[in-house]
Amino acid sequence: YRYVPATVSLVAVSKTVPVERVAEAVAAGQRLFGENYLQEAEEKISRLEQLLAQAGPGAAQAAASPAPAWHFIGHLQSNKSKAAAGRFAMVETVDRLKLAKSLARHAAAAGRVLPVLVQVNVGGEEQKSGVAPAAVADLLRALAELPALRVMGFMTMPPFAVDPEQSRPHFARLRQLAEECARQGLLGRHGPPLLSMGMSADFEVAIEEGANLVRVGTAIFGPR
Ligand SMILES: *Cc1c(COP(=O)(O)O)cnc(C)c1O
Repeated sequence: YRYVPATVSLVAVSKTVPVERVAEAVAAGQRLFGENYLQEAEEKISRLEQLLAQAGPGAAQAAASPAPAWHFIGHLQSNKSKAAAGRFAMVETVDRLKLAKSLARHAAAAGRVLPVLVQVNVGGEEQKSGVAPAAVADLLRALAELPALRVMGFMTMPPFAVDPEQSRPHFARLRQLAEECARQGLLGRHGPPLLSMGMSADFEVAIEEGANLVRVGTAIFGPR
């Protein structure tokens, strides 16, 4: 028996993908997109808005309701957090208090509460962003003091693996961590925790281990 979440949301990762192809995905019914680079994302989001508006009252516009939403999934520098806090439905890559405080300040100034995920470095890789599993609880306690942020769950990128089965223990670890934190009252105040894990090569394994948000680029848009 394997736990499978009742619903899984798909973030279509559109980094390097031209806006016209994003518009095709919107016309096909996709509403949630993920971007890694702030400047690319800002340009794409406003160009997509233009494209959809130009489509007039026809099919394309009808297909665009509700409006597309964007998740930020890349490494974020604190000095870029104003743009991120204003443009994105969610920032999935909060991994340090300084960034969180900066996002919270800009979200508050914009009069919004920003949903975020804490990025966890489950593989303990030195070159990878993400907070160490052992430091997650402390970070969650500090984030609870920032009412302009709403911590919805965790995101992870396990170490690169040829065989998706090699990623399974990392996905399982993230889920266990979320369950532990929820038990301690540190996570899950806004519904069941979100677990953003799984990409083109391993999203099936991730879902078997409890992912309810998957980030898929190549399998949708083709090779970059
Ligand atoms: C690029 C990227 C993805 C999508 O990867 P694919 O292998 O193309 O599906 C998912 N998550 C993050 C953080 C990424 O940078």
